[in-house]
Amino acid sequence: MKISVVVPIYNEKDNVEILYKKIKDVMDKNGYDYEIIFIDDGSSDGTFEIMKKLADSDKRFKLIKFRRNFGQTPAMAAGFDYADGDIIVSMDGDLQNDPEDIPKLLEKIDEGYDVVSGWRKNRQDEKKRVVFSKVANWLIGKITKVTIHDYGCSLKAYRSDVAKNLHMYGELHRFIPVLANIYGASITEIPVQHHPRQFGESKYNLSRTFRVIVDLVLMYFMQKFMTRPIHFFGIIGFILFVLGFAIDGYLAFEKLFFGMSVGNRPLLLMGILLILSGINIGGIGIISEFLTRIYFESQDKKIYNIKQAINFDDKT
Ligand code: UDP
Ligand code: MG
Repeated sequence: MKISVVVPIYNEKDNVEILYKKIKDVMDKNGYDYEIIFIDDGSSDGTFEIMKKLADSDKRFKLIKFRRNFGQTPAMAAGFDYADGDIIVSMDGDLQNDPEDIPKLLEKIDEGYDVVSGWRKNRQDEKKRVVFSKVANWLIGKITKVTIHDYGCSLKAYRSDVAKNLHMYGELHRFIPVLANIYGASITEIPVQHHPRQFGESKYNLSRTFRVIVDLVLMYFMQKFMTRPIHFFGIIGFILFVLGFAIDGYLAFEKLFFGMSVGNRPLLLMGILLILSGINIGGIGIISEFLTRIYFESQDKKIYNIKQAINFDDKT
């Protein structure tokens, strides 16, 4: 079994060398077959030059250099794409995660899990971030039904096929457990160490709160309706349309049979609004169905994921 350790790096000049050595130590000590992949996400502080020197003296230390800063998610995605291990381990490049935890993660993979997520039980970040992340984690668990304590921990191990099929966009690395769940992976978590950041600074601030919230809405939608958007939009659109139709039908009835004036009644407007939004939302549902077909069929993707097919040798 080969292990690929993937680390996104953005301006971590004082961390990279120590981290590289720690990872190498752990991997050598445990006798793993491994590669270490650092992705330089457009650093501008000389981090790349330091890593380049290390890579020159160690074939198992691989480097990817982005043209500019693309973000942590693209950096991780690149690492997953280039990794050729059977198991991929991801972690942060700022020494907050501890390479000593890698063997523990791998043990869990050995037990049969597809994804093992780290749980920063003793998270060493600013107080308000820790509190906020507790609330966020609780909410994400409630909504996505993937029940782990710490979605955001970068220290994770995955079976390679899972990591390579996450289809991450934007900042969805925070939702990897949910994406893995959509893929059909089995997930567990184990407590891991967490250290305060010693060198360099955090790349994120609290404005990510809002991004996390809208991403969560997206995750909920993808988890439930990715392959059947009409069940979401169609039903809402239908209900609105019927309500509006009933309201305006009632007004028309009053007008036609009792000669009452309806032009000045707010209800008329409400009925019209409901009918129009119903049609619009239903239409979005139909367009979404076409988009789903384009998404899956144009790339030969399947709406299912098979773990094993037995006695189909002639087909493979
Ligand atoms: N990172 C990156 N690109 C970015 C921002 C961050 O590759 O645009 C890396 C960063 O170098 C670190 C990891 O992602 O290895 C996590 O970032 P950070 O420690 O700033 O996040 P925090 O721990 O504060 O959530
Ligand atoms: Mg950090």
